[in-house]
Amino acid sequence: MSNARVYNFSAGPSMLPLQVLERAGSEITNYQGSGMSVMEMSHRSKVFQKIFDDTQAKFRRLLKVPEGYKVLFLQGGASTQFSAVPLNLIGKTGKADYAVTGNFSNLAYKEAKKYGTINLAASSEDKNHTYIPAQSQLKLDPEASYFYYCANNTIYGTEWQYVPDTGDVPLVCDMSSDILSRPVDVSKYGVIFAGAQKNMAPAGLTVVIVREDLAGHELPYTPKMLGYQLMIEKDSMYNTPPCWCIYILGLVLDWLDEQGGVEGMEAIKHGKAQMLYDVIDSSKLFTCAVEPGSRSDMNVTFRSASEELDAKFVAEATAAGFTNLKGHRNVGGMRASIYNAMPVEGVEKLCDFIKAFDKAN
Ligand SMILES: *Cc1c(COP(=O)(O)O)cnc(C)c1O
Repeated sequence: MSNARVYNFSAGPSMLPLQVLERAGSEITNYQGSGMSVMEMSHRSKVFQKIFDDTQAKFRRLLKVPEGYKVLFLQGGASTQFSAVPLNLIGKTGKADYAVTGNFSNLAYKEAKKYGTINLAASSEDKNHTYIPAQSQLKLDPEASYFYYCANNTIYGTEWQYVPDTGDVPLVCDMSSDILSRPVDVSKYGVIFAGAQKNMAPAGLTVVIVREDLAGHELPYTPKMLGYQLMIEKDSMYNTPPCWCIYILGLVLDWLDEQGGVEGMEAIKHGKAQMLYDVIDSSKLFTCAVEPGSRSDMNVTFRSASEELDAKFVAEATAAGFTNLKGHRNVGGMRASIYNAMPVEGVEKLCDFIKAFDKAN
């Protein structure tokens, strides 16, 4: 193994800022004079409680989470929320609206069907999930308990560029792969959730933002661990929270602050993505199937005309230090996941590599 770090374009778990890894490394055996690692601490200790509280405060400040919303640090991944969302929210009318724009919203849609009447409010399956439906295409049920969508489709490389208007129906959003990459008007949402391993922290932490008045109405058979109200009352510590991941999230938020917060990050990440799309659009070999206006700033998908050439590209890119560019098996081709922690320089160098490959083949 060489000692050099690669430009890691993995879709998740993904790159973390180097500065965060180095700081965690420097504190790994003895966190700030406590004589122990954060991994070894009681979650009820004063030292850990401070890490927890500080991380909560930083998260709330950076994402401007308003009063009336609780930020929960849970486990189970985003996928557990596919069940928790209907269990907690569908009791109001027994109905919910789902927009299916990719793999994960489809999984959430299928899971929700166990618990109520689910209306397919929109689907992009007709064009293999290469676009995001427009507001005018949403078939909204005014009696829905909530409207569910996935902000960024990690596998297909599409991203909602607008917040759906659903009137009084609360919005529920899976932001696993673009949270903290742009400002969010949290007050427009009922529930926002995100697995941490794309843009926030190591796998094992799920951040759930809940409008407090929506909690406490879960279906009677809701597993205790999935009830929002209990986790609100216990401040995410009914049981042991993912302590290490919460600590790393705190370090990532410090780093994000130095980038200008989510407002600063929005400009940086959009610049990175635009650079890549420009190179792909002006190449002779590569195309991006996603419609302009629906393209993701986080996961850039592209392909050549043949699978052989795609494989050659991936192999040569890997050898050159650009790893994990192979597309998801559902889509094929390539996918460059360029979350917050991917340095601009990594994208610039990938663009140069694409241009050189384009010329040579
Ligand atoms: C990765 C991903 C998931 C699945 O997350 P887990 O934490 O593995 O359950 C769900 N939704 C989106 C948008 C994702 O990118």
